[in-house]
Formats: sequence, structure tokens, C-alpha cells
Amino acid sequence: MSQDVACSAKPAVFDYDIAIVGGGVVGATLAASLKHSGLAIAIIEAQSQSDAIAKGQAYAIHQSSRQVFDDIGVWPQIESQIEFFRQVRLSDADSPHVVEFESSELQAKAIGYVAKHRILLQELQSFLTTCEQVDWHCPAQVTTTDYDAKGATLQLASGESLRVRMVVAADGAKSQVRQQAGIKTHGWPYWQSCVVATIAPEKHHDNIAYEKFWPSGPFAILPSAKDECRVVWTAPHKEAQALLDLNDDQFIDQLHHRYGNQMGQLSLVGKRHLFPAKWMHANRYVQPRLALVGDAAHSCHPVGGQGLNLGIRDAATLAQVLTVAHQHGEDIGSLMVLRRYQSWRRQQNLLSLGFTDILNRTFSNQWFPLVQVRRLGLQVMQRIPPLKVWSLKFMAGLHGRSATST
Ligand SMILES: Cc1cc2nc3c(=O)[nH]c(=O)nc-3n(C[C@H](O)[C@H](O)[C@H](O)COP(=O)(O)OP(=O)(O)OC[C@H]3O[C@@H](n4cnc5c(N)ncnc54)[C@H](O)[C@@H]3O)c2cc1C
Repeated sequence: MSQDVACSAKPAVFDYDIAIVGGGVVGATLAASLKHSGLAIAIIEAQSQSDAIAKGQAYAIHQSSRQVFDDIGVWPQIESQIEFFRQVRLSDADSPHVVEFESSELQAKAIGYVAKHRILLQELQSFLTTCEQVDWHCPAQVTTTDYDAKGATLQLASGESLRVRMVVAADGAKSQVRQQAGIKTHGWPYWQSCVVATIAPEKHHDNIAYEKFWPSGPFAILPSAKDECRVVWTAPHKEAQALLDLNDDQFIDQLHHRYGNQMGQLSLVGKRHLFPAKWMHANRYVQPRLALVGDAAHSCHPVGGQGLNLGIRDAATLAQVLTVAHQHGEDIGSLMVLRRYQSWRRQQNLLSLGFTDILNRTFSNQWFPLVQVRRLGLQVMQRIPPLKVWSLKFMAGLHGRSATST
């Protein structure tokens, strides 16, 4: 805990250096990446730790996120529980021209991985039990946050209050911390929703992921366990709701229709879920005493599985900026320090967010000349290896400056 002797109407003693509001994967990654910073950290999470883990979501995890987890030291434990994909087959509806991305093009065993939320958060929580400078406050809801020249005071629903040097909002797309701080966002809802399901195919998935662009929206199948795949089926809202309302046999029938029979008989594992797709970007990521990370700063169309991966990079970058600033005796909550994080991440995120939007709109468009151009584009990409490798690296988050490589 830190002492501050400057004159202020607020208490001079800080309970913590940093309060991270939101103990999801992004908030927990930030706390874990700050392990060697020497900073005292509070994670304030609205749900109990076990409820926060229980979310049934799974994510495509890119090489950029693997590097972050590797640096923290949790990757071996995560990797042993998740599935990888070594090839991605990308195609435009029923066009015979398929672009095949191979892991060898990244000089890696895998292009990416699919990890259940439960596994990621459990391993991060377990790592954080070894970090003496990190305290969990959960279940605990932040109700208000007051900022002043020296720090911030958070009021919790329990009546407790915490005095900190700075706050990080990792509280998701509807971030109350961001809204209360008056940071505006821009963006739009899409005309589509995503139906997410897990299937057990009769034949092994062979560690191949499929992304097919249909006029109604992208359709992805990703290997998510030894004998399971995750389906993310995007369609206009009404069509997506109708898919959700089908009984299991009818849904499997529709799936065979869309996907073919290359994996033999399919059966459903667990429930299907529906998520409306939206695009959102905060007008700024920082202001004095506050930084936004993950979905609190941005959210995008699920095509290409970018959202969480961008948040993990935000977390690693902010951790690095704060660690270096603290080592140099700088005020970690000052705008001068926090702007380094913003200028590092905001443009990179905007590029990836823009990429998901263009991909979705271009491939959902049935204007004949555009269909011809994009199909030609896929053929060209398949035939020009440097272009294919560049695209693959971009999708895998291996572009721009990386916090782990500096
Ligand atoms: C259909 C679909 C598929 C997706 N697939 C992928 C994919 O394959 N790969 C990928 O990278 N991304 C994917 N995403 C995006 C991904 O789900 C999000 O980017 C990611 O979950 C954001 O994580 P987060 O930690 O920033 O926020 P969240 O997961 O929303 O966590 C926020 C946390 O803050 C807590 N909280 C909220 N308010 C408060 C408060 N006031 N006080 C205290 N705690 C609070 C919440 O309880 C929660 O634990 C997908 C999204 C959708 C919709």
C-alpha cells in the first residue's frame, strides 16, 4: 500500500495503487501481468469467483494471447486443457475456391486455439492466489467512482469505500465505470445475431477450423475439444431467433444443410445461445486516474474471433506501461502516463475492429460485381503466399507493436 503526503481534501493514504473493476478474463489478465510491478491491486468483481468462471462462453485464442499467457506463466496449464487448430479453411458460401491457411505459415504448431471461458479464468484466478499484492473484492459491485487530482474513491454496494491512485475499467461492454466517467462511445448494432452451439461430430475434426461467408452472415466451426466443435452461426435477427427456437433434431438438420456431411453425424452438446452482434469504440481510452481495457473500450462483430484477444493485448500493454512508469517514479494515474497506453493500443484496435466490420459487410453483400471481386480476391490470396501469410498474421494478432516483445 502506498502513502501520499501531498495536501488534499481526500484521505492521503491509499488502500491500493490500482482498482481493477471487473474480474473477467481481461481484468484478471491485467492483474496477473502486473505481478512483478510492485503495485498493490484490488480486483472488484460483481459476481463470486465461481459464478464468474461459470459462463458457458468459449473463445478462439490467437497467438498474440498465447504469448501474453506464456509471459504470465499460465500457458502450460491452459494449453493442456484446450484444443488447437492447425488449418483454417475460408470460403465464400458455396464457391469452390477455398483459402487454406496453415500453421506452418506462422512457423507454429497451431494457428490458434479454442478455450472455454471457465478454463482461462480458473487458471488466471489460481495464478492470482500466488500474488500477494492482489486482493479480490467479490462479490462486490462498484456503485460510484469519484475522481480528484490525486486519485479516486470507489463506493461499493456493501457500503465499503476504497481509495486508489487509479481505476481500470474492465467491466465489459456496458461499462458503468466508463459511463459514469462521461466517456462517450460510437458504434452501431448489426442486423445480425450469432447462434452459438457445441456439437460432437461422428468423425474427428482433424484440428481444422472452417469460416464460410454466407449472404446471411459468417458461419464458423472450430475444434473446441478432442471430440467437440464450436459453431458460431451468424444470421439476421429473426432467422437467428428461429434457429434458436428449433428443437435439437431440426437444428442439426439445418446444420447439415449449411455445413455438409464431411464430419458424419452431428449431435448437440448443451444449450444453444444467442448474442446480438454490435460494434462499439470508446472515444478515448484514458482520462486522469482512469483507463479502459477490453470490452469496456471496444466490442466488435464476432467474425474472426477478435474481441477477447484485443482485450488481452490491452491488458498486457497497460501492465507494461504502468510497470515502467512506476519503476521510473512517475505518477501511474497521470494523463501523461496513461496516454502512452492509449496511443499504443487505440489505433491497433481500430484497425482490427474495422477489419471485422469490412469483412462482415463485404461478404454479406450480394451485389454481383462485388461477389466477383471478392471471389477473385480469395483466389489471388490463395496463390500469393506472402499475401496469405500477411493476412494470417493480421488475423492472429501478430501485427503492430506487442507488449510481450519489447
Ligand atoms: C457470439 C460471440 C462470440 C465471440 N467469440 C470470440 C472469440 O472467439 N474470440 C474472442 O477473442 N472474442 C470473442 N468474443 C468477444 C468476447 O466474448 C469479449 O470480447 C470478451 O468476453 C470481453 O471480456 P472482458 O473481460 O472485457 O468483459 P466481460 O467478459 O464482460 O467481463 C466483465 C466483468 O466485469 C464484471 N462487472 C461488470 N460490472 C461490474 C461492476 N459495476 N462492478 C464489479 N464488476 C463488474 C462482470 O461481472 C464480468 O465478470 C465473442 C463474442 C460473442 C458475442
